[in-house]
Amino acid sequence: MKVLVTEYLRIDLDTEKWECRSCNHEIGNARGNYKEGLLVYDREPAEIHKPLLDPKRYSHTYTPNPKWCRILEFYCPNCGTMVETEYTVPGHPPVHDIEFDIDALKAQWATRKPVTERTPGKEPPRHEHHHHGHGHGAAHAPQKD
Ligand SMILES: [Zn+2]
Repeated sequence: MKVLVTEYLRIDLDTEKWECRSCNHEIGNARGNYKEGLLVYDREPAEIHKPLLDPKRYSHTYTPNPKWCRILEFYCPNCGTMVETEYTVPGHPPVHDIEFDIDALKAQWATRKPVTERTPGKEPPRHEHHHHGHGHGAAHAPQKD
């Protein structure tokens, strides 16, 4: 039984391994941190968030200060898919952000059917831009196409 965890990660409950959903690569022990099985790219924050002000003239440029902020990108070593990004402080080990009780997960999924694609559910609100003529605070009736 494979359980979807994020857009790019799933857990195979039979082998107790994290797997890449893009290429089926076995990332590591599902009872451990999936990040240990991924490639890490320690990014320069200024490359991701370009300064909005001239760094020669201003000390605060809306770019995260590299003394205080690191941006880690995690990639599948097999297919190169970016699985996760993390904002952290320099010197801090990658956060163990997803940790399951694998035995409880097995019990929970024992009687369920496998889910191979995301479950249909409530869609997030769509940003449709045909609100011409509405003033602020006007009640928005359901849009007709
Ligand atoms: Zn992969």
